[in-house]
Amino acid sequence: MIDVPANLARVQERIRRAAERAGRAPEGILLVGVSKLVDVERIRSAVAAGLPALGENRVQEANEKIRHLGRPVPWHLVGHLQTNKARDAVLLFDVIQSVDRLELARELHRRAAAAGKVVDVLVQVNVAGERTKGGFAPEEIKGALEELAGLSGLSVRGLMTIPPAVESAELARGWFRRLRELRDAAGLLHLSMGMSGDFEVAVEEGATMVRVGTAIFGPRPR
Ligand SMILES: *Cc1c(COP(=O)(O)O)cnc(C)c1O
Repeated sequence: MIDVPANLARVQERIRRAAERAGRAPEGILLVGVSKLVDVERIRSAVAAGLPALGENRVQEANEKIRHLGRPVPWHLVGHLQTNKARDAVLLFDVIQSVDRLELARELHRRAAAAGKVVDVLVQVNVAGERTKGGFAPEEIKGALEELAGLSGLSVRGLMTIPPAVESAELARGWFRRLRELRDAAGLLHLSMGMSGDFEVAVEEGATMVRVGTAIFGPRPR
C-alpha cells in the first residue's frame, strides 16, 4: 500500500532540509506533484494532505482529471505540447512549464489572446543540448525571450529543464547550476528543476519549483 500523505510529508521535510542547507526559505519552493498515470483517488488524498500544485504531461489526461477533481490547486503542464492542443492547454492549465519552441509560443499567445487570458509560462531549456530532447539551447534563450516579450498573451515567469539522466543526483548539480545562471542572466524569477531522484540537489542549487511524481505517488503503472 502506498501511503501518499506520509510520502508527501517526507518529501516536504526533505525540501525543507535542503532549503535550510542552502540558507533558503522553504516557502520559496513550490512542490508540484506530477500525477501522470496516477488515479484520481490518490491525487485527491495528496491534495487533502496539503500538496500545493499538480503537474500533468498530457492535455487529454489532465482534462479528464480536472473534470473529476476540479481546481483545488493550480494545474501545471510539464510535458511536450503539440501545437494543435495549444487551445485546450490555455483553457486547462494555470502554468505551462514546457514552452520548448517559438512556434508553440506564438500559438499559445494567439489562443490566450482569443480567450482574453494571459498564461503563465516557463521556457524549457535543453541544458545539455541532447539530441533527443526538446527545448531551447542555452545560446538561444536570449533571443527567444526577446521574441516572447512581444507576445502579450504570455507571461514568462522563468526557466524549466529536464537534465540528462544520470546515475546519482550529485551528477545533475552542474546542469542545475547552469540553468540557474541562465535564469539569473535573463532576470527571471522561477527555476523549475528537480524530480524524485534529485530534487534536494535542485533545491540546493536554487530551484523555486520541483516536479516530483514517484516519491509522492509511488511507482507509475506501465
Ligand atoms: C514524470 C515527470 C516528472 C516526475 O518524475 P518522477 O521521477 O516520478 O518524480 C517531472 N518532470 C517531468 C517533466 C515529468 O515528465
